[in-house]
Amino acid sequence: MLEEYISCEWIEYGMACQYDGIYNCCFFSNPDIEINPISKTKNNKYNFKEFFKIKNKIRALQKKGQILESCINCPNLEKKSWDGKNKIKSMIISSYTKCSSNCIYCYTHSDKENFNKKPDIPVLGFIKDCIKKKIIDKNTYIIFGGGEPTESKEFESILDLLQKIDGIKMKIYSSGIKYSNKIENCLKSMNLELVISTDSGDKDLYRQIKGVDAFEQVWLNLKKYSLASTELSKVIVKYIFIKDVNDNIYSIDKFLEKVRESDIKYIKAELDYNSSYMEYMNNKEEMNKIFKLIKHLEESTNKLGLNYLKGGNLYCAEEKYNNLHNNS
Ligand code: SF4
Ligand code: SF4
Repeated sequence: MLEEYISCEWIEYGMACQYDGIYNCCFFSNPDIEINPISKTKNNKYNFKEFFKIKNKIRALQKKGQILESCINCPNLEKKSWDGKNKIKSMIISSYTKCSSNCIYCYTHSDKENFNKKPDIPVLGFIKDCIKKKIIDKNTYIIFGGGEPTESKEFESILDLLQKIDGIKMKIYSSGIKYSNKIENCLKSMNLELVISTDSGDKDLYRQIKGVDAFEQVWLNLKKYSLASTELSKVIVKYIFIKDVNDNIYSIDKFLEKVRESDIKYIKAELDYNSSYMEYMNNKEEMNKIFKLIKHLEESTNKLGLNYLKGGNLYCAEEKYNNLHNNS
């Protein structure tokens, strides 16, 4: 039965399987929001019965007009009619934290050694169960987040399961360091977006941002993946703006030079969601500067005949920027 109240697509139909529990969403890309797991993993296992029980409790609160503390101010909240069904339209799989890259903006950066040692939370049986019980079907959007999926033991087996669901849509975030024939195969046959952030077109800058020497390897892999993509799949290279690191015209242009050499058709811009986002957003001058650079990236991408895409937190940043300029 449809009922009107304030909620969001993620509360209603989202699931994020993280290394420490199940969340409604993974809104880490928006630094204005701090989210907490709604259900901790027990004995290294996920439990969707408990998950839906808690989701239903949240729905009951929302029907009374209350909002979860972690959701207050989230731009995804909207008042509309919800059907209250226990189905999953978007699922994030991020049950692993290991990654051979060491990006300065990653949540693992401050405690890299420990995050690299943490064992994956097994999720394969859980996904199988979700498929069997039709909680996941062709209408579910599956997103593999960070750590690094290609370094997780279960990654290929999960892809095997998902490949059997005709028409399912997926997104994979990868460091691009380890080439995966399985991803290549999925790019050729599925509706898949592969997103790799290089944030630079310069070897030294790449090492500074990523903490590893994998610049040539990653751009080579990007080219191979891009050549394997079809009309149904996309290979996207992302430029995450990091304050006082790569937020200048020279670095953007070097990045675009590499893009041109690599047969990539999609570029995505985003702001580093750690300190940079706040530093850009809390200062008018900084905000104007970063939006000029974003515009430069967008216009240069268009001039090259490539596709420009906006990353998640740019929508929130743009709203703030527009408010600032409309009110001044
Ligand atoms: S309202 Fe925002 S923070 Fe809360 S579940 Fe939805 S997307 Fe996540
Ligand atoms: S590639 Fe992703 S998971 Fe790996 S360190 Fe960078 S942001 Fe973190």
